[in-house]
Amino acid sequence: MTRVLLLGGTAEARALADRLVAAGVDVTTSLAGRVADPRLPVGAVRIGGFGGIDGLRAALTDYDVVVDATHPFATTMSANAAAACAAAGRPLLRLERPGWSQRAGQAWHWADSHEQAAQIAARLGRRPVLTIGRQQLASYLPALADASVLARVVEPPSIDLPPGWSLIRDRGPYALPGELALLRDHRADVVVTKDSGGEYTWPKMLAAEELGLPVVVVRRPARPEGVATVNDVERALAWVLTGD
Ligand code: NAP
Repeated sequence: MTRVLLLGGTAEARALADRLVAAGVDVTTSLAGRVADPRLPVGAVRIGGFGGIDGLRAALTDYDVVVDATHPFATTMSANAAAACAAAGRPLLRLERPGWSQRAGQAWHWADSHEQAAQIAARLGRRPVLTIGRQQLASYLPALADASVLARVVEPPSIDLPPGWSLIRDRGPYALPGELALLRDHRADVVVTKDSGGEYTWPKMLAAEELGLPVVVVRRPARPEGVATVNDVERALAWVLTGD
């Protein structure tokens, strides 16, 4: 039976694990271990890094195929998966949710990096809401040190934050009423997000639109080249089951 290593940490990975287990496939989901209380998928789970490309390559002796369903911004893991699978001769599929598309009436400002996003946000407002995770918060300190920032994170950051910053710990999925309340309560004048895509965190974009707030959107990083990619769970399931 095909043994699948599913690189996870996303809603899509959990959905694919569901479908694979239901189809009787031997699947192990891998999580990085960043979140203290992760939402666990069905099926087998392993937690923690592999130890770079070489560690992953060694681990691949236990698996026949790999599905990389990590977050669009988890670039190191995806690059390592591409390199290790090529070296070990294991088929690799990338499952990646589509990015968001701007609708008429939405005031989005695209940024190529977090540093650029911080500069744009500083230009647009003094009360930003940052929803870019905790790992990149340091990139926002130079431009926004004196601003009244509200940063929403799943886990607390490891850096000290300026006195004018506040933190809220929460994790999606989010709904529009809560997102409206969050932005109103903070008296936000700009929202910063990554182009995560998907529906879990889309309501903040609707809330910003409803309140007439600009949104700074950090573009997705480049992907490893030459990796077969699908955008939805059904196609990933078909790839595992039929190889196509
Ligand atoms: P990253 O920067 O691409 O990866 C850094 C290192 O973390 C990797 O080299 C690997 O360590 C380990 N790692 C990452 N994902 C792993 C996985 N699924 N299983 C085992 N080890 C993993 O990753 P990241 O951006 O910190 O994301 C970490 C996890 O959080 C991923 O599972 C991702 O899907 C999820 N996530 C990320 C974001 C985001 O915005 N980045 C958002 C939501 C969820 P070794 O080199 O030791 O193997």
